Amino acid sequence: MEERIVIVGAGQAGGELAAGLRKQGYKGRVLLLGDEAHPPYQRPPLSKGFLQGKVALTDLYLKPLATYERFDIELKSGTRVEAIDRAAREVSLGDGSRLAYDKLVLATGGRARPLSLPGLEGARLENLFSVRSISDIEAMRGRFVPGNHLVIVGGGYVGLEVAAVAVQLGLRVTLLEAAPRLLSRVTGPEVSSFIEKLHRERGVELRLSCEVRSLELDEARRQVRGVGFACHGVPERLEADLVLVGIGLIPNTELASAAGLAVDNGIVVDEYACTADPNILAIGDCANQPSAYTGGRIRLESVPNAIEHARVAAATLMGKREPSSAIPWFWSDQYGLKLQMVGLSTGYEQCVTRSSAEGKEFSAFYLKDRRVIAADVIGRPAEFMAARRLVSSRAEVDAARLGDVAVPLASIAA
Ligand code: FAD
Repeated sequence: MEERIVIVGAGQAGGELAAGLRKQGYKGRVLLLGDEAHPPYQRPPLSKGFLQGKVALTDLYLKPLATYERFDIELKSGTRVEAIDRAAREVSLGDGSRLAYDKLVLATGGRARPLSLPGLEGARLENLFSVRSISDIEAMRGRFVPGNHLVIVGGGYVGLEVAAVAVQLGLRVTLLEAAPRLLSRVTGPEVSSFIEKLHRERGVELRLSCEVRSLELDEARRQVRGVGFACHGVPERLEADLVLVGIGLIPNTELASAAGLAVDNGIVVDEYACTADPNILAIGDCANQPSAYTGGRIRLESVPNAIEHARVAAATLMGKREPSSAIPWFWSDQYGLKLQMVGLSTGYEQCVTRSSAEGKEFSAFYLKDRRVIAADVIGRPAEFMAARRLVSSRAEVDAARLGDVAVPLASIAA
């Protein structure tokens, strides 16, 4: 019988893998199962151009629908996998049917972390949102009207991108962040300050060191009317027309753990994307993988990682062994400014910054043992390539030259 690869999760990683298998000449059946109503799509524009109304729905799709037919990829949207039977090598689907596999790839991504507050049990709140899917944006769009007060909980990338879109659409925006600075988990204080200024100048009210304590609901428990929080421990409240929660992601690992596979902040895989079961792989946001770059294990939430991990898995499924040596990178867009990050700054000893005289563009380089281990480049896409080379070469740099905007970054990288 023809060999079957079943991919669970028709997102960025699953979609890339299905196409990648065909490009590598895979001749067996490829089934791509996704519980959303859409073919694989890009999530980055959700909190940017799609929310703003500048990107059309079909422009989100990774590939036109016809491509799946042409590549003989059996795409089954609206299909949820409920369980894995490893002994029988079958998955059970939401409609009760079962599907056999020879190889199974879990590309289940993650879901938005909900606010965990007392008193919300059982409430179906029509103006409390998170951003993970097309349907999330479709649900909130009607409330993105000038004058509405949007309260955003969480000063990470998603919260900040939504804040940028919302003020540009004329909403009043207050962003509450529990940490003393924005983006505190992913960047240094210099970049946090730059981003803080960017948002304040455009009218976002940023409240740092503020922890949300409660949501005030209407009588029917269908609408949030206000947000209770404590700033530096002092209680306050704000009225809200809508509330957006952007406090991170929970990887979708339940299928794997129920099937007895190891889970530890993601489905545990080796450098070839394989779990301990030789017939099951995991890729993308849901997977915790060894990193040649850090020497430890890592779970990344980014498009470049999903694409790279899909490439590794396609090679494995084709009988090759091609572990990744990629360095993590990520981008964000706010107010038309591109923010590009490469490497991980954890454990850096020195931060060297380069900024233009007008202060509109900004780069930060994180050094350890005189080598650049990570860089954040804002508004200078051309410099980002040189920054990537600096991080990947691990060459020693002269901090004074690095910090001098008159010295071209490319010459330092060379
Ligand atoms: P996903 O794309 O989440 O796909 C997983 C799919 O699996 C989902 O469709 C899910 O519904 C489905 N699924 C889960 N369980 C099941 C099941 N049991 N049965 C069937 N289907 C299932 N990254 C960047 O690099 N730059 C950015 O600017 C950026 N911006 C972002 C903005 C937003 C608003 C969001 C949400 C993400 C952003 N990201 C960005 C992150 C990036 O989109 C993700 O890292 C990427 O989508 C991960 O791909 P994935 O395939 O692992 O997961």
